[in-house]
Amino acid sequence: MSGNRTTVSKSDKLHDVCYDIRGPVLREAHRLEDEGHRVIKLNIGNPAPFGFEAPEELLQDVIHNLPDSTGYCHSKGLFPARKAVMQYTQTKGIPDVTVDDIIIGNGVSELIVMAMQALLNNGDEVLLPAPDYPLWTAAVRLSGGNPVHYLCDEKQDWQPALDDIRAKITDRTKALVIINPNNPTGANYDPALLQEMVKIAREHDLIIFADEIYDKILYDGEQHTSIASMAEDLLCITFNGLSKNYRAAGFRAGWMVISGAKYRAESYIEGLDMLASMRLCANVPSQHAIQAALGGYQSISDLVLPTGRLGRQRDKAWEMLDSIPGVSCVKPKSALYLFPKLDPKVFPFQDDEAFVLDLLRQEKVLVVQGTAFNWPNPDHFRVVFLPRMDDLQDSIGRIAEYLDRIRKK
Ligand code: PLP
Repeated sequence: MSGNRTTVSKSDKLHDVCYDIRGPVLREAHRLEDEGHRVIKLNIGNPAPFGFEAPEELLQDVIHNLPDSTGYCHSKGLFPARKAVMQYTQTKGIPDVTVDDIIIGNGVSELIVMAMQALLNNGDEVLLPAPDYPLWTAAVRLSGGNPVHYLCDEKQDWQPALDDIRAKITDRTKALVIINPNNPTGANYDPALLQEMVKIAREHDLIIFADEIYDKILYDGEQHTSIASMAEDLLCITFNGLSKNYRAAGFRAGWMVISGAKYRAESYIEGLDMLASMRLCANVPSQHAIQAALGGYQSISDLVLPTGRLGRQRDKAWEMLDSIPGVSCVKPKSALYLFPKLDPKVFPFQDDEAFVLDLLRQEKVLVVQGTAFNWPNPDHFRVVFLPRMDDLQDSIGRIAEYLDRIRKK
């Protein structure tokens, strides 16, 4: 009887959807762990497992409010949490945001998918950076849209190539996505460049989606500018949350802020409200942490100092990677990642997933291949510099030894 049953396939909607950060390579790492190997994971930007604790006052707020958090709340989120986000947008110079313009979600991830689902018709195009945080590309595809990637220029500290953005605009282009500070490159964009991006969006009537989840993880005294603060006349949606700046990724607490030309987007905003209502509301206990986080002591500022744990780890990881013969790496100004380049003359890899798998099997070090970030060539990989210094040095040392062996072959 079982022989007659049809197989169950994923829906056609998922055919082109790809999210390789947690894909086949991670499954292989789990298999190795099941066999008893210790794998050093430089693959996911999840601070807590590496001893980066969330501020104590966040935890206390959640614990204190837990007994009153068992019911659903407003679909857009708890009022005090949204109020705190509203005040935060004021400090970033984003004009004219009310509590009603804020939706709290189960992490930025949920909101990115909602924002694309509410907007896109089949065949609509969205401009996304290459490399990107791949959820953006996946969300556009899942929503029936076509992701179109504009290049970020490694030679210009990974700033977006404006000519490439211009060249890729068509009459189907609806929106421009800006991930700033950037995952995976660690770039933090200049205000002058952001102005140029606003100009392009203005000329072509594009919505700006700004993913700013790393806006407080800045090194060497860098400052962050929210692009929405420069684009009062355009519709801007800015995303942020507790996962990185407050090391509370497991809380799944993020928010989106609608600003600028809201009057032209009534129907879209209605769509967003409907999708927010359909999932009832975001996790309520975690929302109590938002006010505590935004209003509390910003302990991330200590961690990113040259003497802070993140600052030191960034420096060491960068120095070690950049000094491997045949490898070069732009020093990240922000976020938690390095995106080194493998010189194709020295390492003529055709398939960067195969390289990452081989590195994993030989050295028990897990990184992510560059093409998983929609980078077009198999010549980059991403390293997370969250593990403790001894593990970080050990694992990058192993990457160096592995690449040495390949080079000498
Ligand atoms: N956006 C970027 C650029 C990210 O790097 C990540 C996670 O790594 C997310 C969004 C997801 O954030 P959240 O944990 O709030 O869903």
